Amino acid sequence: MWPWGHAAVGYLLYTAYRRSRFDLRPHGVAVVALAVGTQLPDLIDKPLAWQFAVLPNGRSFGHSLLIAAALLVALWLVARRFDARESVAAFGIGYIGHLFGDALYPALAGEFHYVGFLGWPLIPAIEYELATGGFLDHLFALDLGPLALFELGLTVVAAALWYRHELPGLGVLVPGYGESTPEERPE
Ligand SMILES: [Zn+2]
Repeated sequence: MWPWGHAAVGYLLYTAYRRSRFDLRPHGVAVVALAVGTQLPDLIDKPLAWQFAVLPNGRSFGHSLLIAAALLVALWLVARRFDARESVAAFGIGYIGHLFGDALYPALAGEFHYVGFLGWPLIPAIEYELATGGFLDHLFALDLGPLALFELGLTVVAAALWYRHELPGLGVLVPGYGESTPEERPE
């Protein structure tokens, strides 16, 4: 999936979680944590595999459910002390959503061998056709077919929803930009 596809999936999942659990829309710093979670697996694996050759490929350490579980448990324990559980929940939804987003296409195509990254390192690293090269090599090798259009559509829907929710999270990054509290505007 492209980065914006991951961001869109994360926002849609988190919106569904907030609505079903609290009947509220996404809000504040948790949305920033969500955004980080949606991109972190690639930010870990791609540079370490493609640029520094520390990892076997661009879907290994950061794309493993085992590593993700350990990371999320550790973050949850810290979050309990700092009253940051909502942010960790959002981060976790974004992170796990990324992993399943990457697993979706091979699973739909019946290529379950390519879903094995979820079990790394218990399941050996997948041998991809394009195992070496820099960012641009991988960028130009990406598919621009119907799936890319599907992700673009998903991104438009998620961006429209984010706009409708008064751009939550933006106020954390852009000081002075205010959004009304979720208590003022329940979903
Ligand atoms: Zn990924």
